[in-house]
Amino acid sequence: MRENGHYVKRPLQDIKYHACPAGHKRAILLVDLQTDTIPELDNEGNRQYYCPVCLRIFSVGSSAKRA
Ligand SMILES: [Zn+2]
Repeated sequence: MRENGHYVKRPLQDIKYHACPAGHKRAILLVDLQTDTIPELDNEGNRQYYCPVCLRIFSVGSSAKRA
């Protein structure tokens, strides 16, 4: 996205897709329908993704990073 000639970094792009538990690579981030930019979070604050292949919704913890 460009605004006033400056490139505006959109972190959401980095998290828009996620591999689903079944291995499909194009699960789509669920976002608030009114803003279309803010991710919908479950009760634990995890982002939720929808896989159009196996039609499942799953959560991905944003703070549960494991090295
Ligand atoms: Zn899937």
